[in-house]
Amino acid sequence: MLARPDAYRCTECGLPYRSEGFSYYEGKIENGAAYWSDRGILCSPRCSIAHHRKRQAEGTLRQEPAPDPFEF
Ligand SMILES: [Zn+2]
Repeated sequence: MLARPDAYRCTECGLPYRSEGFSYYEGKIENGAAYWSDRGILCSPRCSIAHHRKRQAEGTLRQEPAPDPFEF
């Protein structure tokens, strides 16, 4: 996970981590952000979807299938 979450803000809307309205994993700030991508953290389901759509439009969305556990 992110070593210094305080240095981060939402990749989509720029809302700083620890701000009012930021979504945390299981609702607890100590658990870190609830949403993120390979580009950074996201504050809410809304920004998560917006980011996903933007990446889709850019063609930079990672769409590798989940690894098959039976192949290991
Ligand atoms: Zn946001």
